[in-house]
Amino acid sequence: MASPLCIRGGRVLDPARGIDRVQDLWIADGRIAGLGEDAPADVRSHPQVEVIPVQGAVICPGLVDIHVHLREPGQEERETIETGTRAAARGGFTTVACMPNTAPPLDDRPRIEYVVRRARESGHARVFPIAAVTRGQMGETLTEIEDLIEAGAVAVSDDGKPVRNAEIMRRALELTGRLGVPVIQHAEDPDLKGDGVMHEGWTSTRLGMRGIPDVAESVMVARDALLAELTNGHVHVAHVSAARSTEIIRRAKARGIRMTAETAPHYLLLTDEAVQGYDPRAKMNPPLRSARDRDALIEAVVDGTIDCLATDHAPHTEIEKDSDFDSAPFGIVGLETALGLYVKALVEPKHLSLSELILRLTVNPCKILGLPGGTFEPGSPADVTVFDPSRRWTVRASEFASMGRNTPFEGWELPGQVLLTMVGGRVTYRPDAVPASAR
Ligand SMILES: [Zn+2]
Repeated sequence: MASPLCIRGGRVLDPARGIDRVQDLWIADGRIAGLGEDAPADVRSHPQVEVIPVQGAVICPGLVDIHVHLREPGQEERETIETGTRAAARGGFTTVACMPNTAPPLDDRPRIEYVVRRARESGHARVFPIAAVTRGQMGETLTEIEDLIEAGAVAVSDDGKPVRNAEIMRRALELTGRLGVPVIQHAEDPDLKGDGVMHEGWTSTRLGMRGIPDVAESVMVARDALLAELTNGHVHVAHVSAARSTEIIRRAKARGIRMTAETAPHYLLLTDEAVQGYDPRAKMNPPLRSARDRDALIEAVVDGTIDCLATDHAPHTEIEKDSDFDSAPFGIVGLETALGLYVKALVEPKHLSLSELILRLTVNPCKILGLPGGTFEPGSPADVTVFDPSRRWTVRASEFASMGRNTPFEGWELPGQVLLTMVGGRVTYRPDAVPASAR
């Protein structure tokens, strides 16, 4: 056995097993050995134990983000698998699932294998690719879904765009339902969206901007709920932004339809008012919506209608984002701010306990995509995140590991500083400030 590792004195949260107590976490040979006295004696009595003291901090299973854009292959001026996974580690994430809207899209086997290989070489996080639903994400012909899943894809999506054609969506759901993977839908009716650039409402009228109505999202969610019921397939709704969508998802779940959902931090903390200064960093798709939508989303996260919390990390170059609101691309980065933003949005106002938050960032996303991890079960890979929920830090995009600097949260003071991220027992992020000691 190589020198075991003891992460000492933190509050261990393992929501899958109902654990919330101060305890040492023991790691040996890249795997979880056990908690406190439950770790095997030969690990605890090993002559060379590396100790990382983390008193006052939270130790939880590595965070999992099932919605990121790593931009590789083809858009390396925005992000690479290297920089994107480094950003993940810095944000406390040990596992990400990446969207296929690269250039070219991840719609054939060699491209899926390329992402898997590059991620392994980079080594900052586990990366699970999501394959395209249709060839070239053109919405016309299904990809060889079974082959792509076999090559390592964990779901299919045409994210960036919706699967617009209901017949194609039906066939994708029939097929993936049999294979046991979800179709992740960027729920949007392209005709209702039109050439809108922000949420359609009082603010868009006042600013004289073209709006995207909330029903552009919700009609697609309703259609997909019906198709999921018909096919017994699994639809996962990406980045839910509208109150009406949460009502549909809640009813679908009550009917036993296999529908799951995620949202992103900005929808819980910002509204369309953030667009007032015409700042392109407040431009994303779906757009920031009304205060009523924001409140309904929080409620849906609390009652489990929205199963998990993602980021929709979408890096763009500064040149792309540094233009007027109308012509700037949609999307913001999210990996390095998500944990702090979620603590601020959900835990500080007491909507969720820390343990309930961690559940939505670990166990639930793993369940949706059938990913390993999410718990400290002895023997499982030592994917670990340590953070201090009360230590505050200031968002400085210039310090991001991501190549993307496009965040609307620049200068915000957030709780929840990440102190250590570990994948398979190997440290992937640890700021200098955290001391190590050996005994
Ligand atoms: Zn999307």
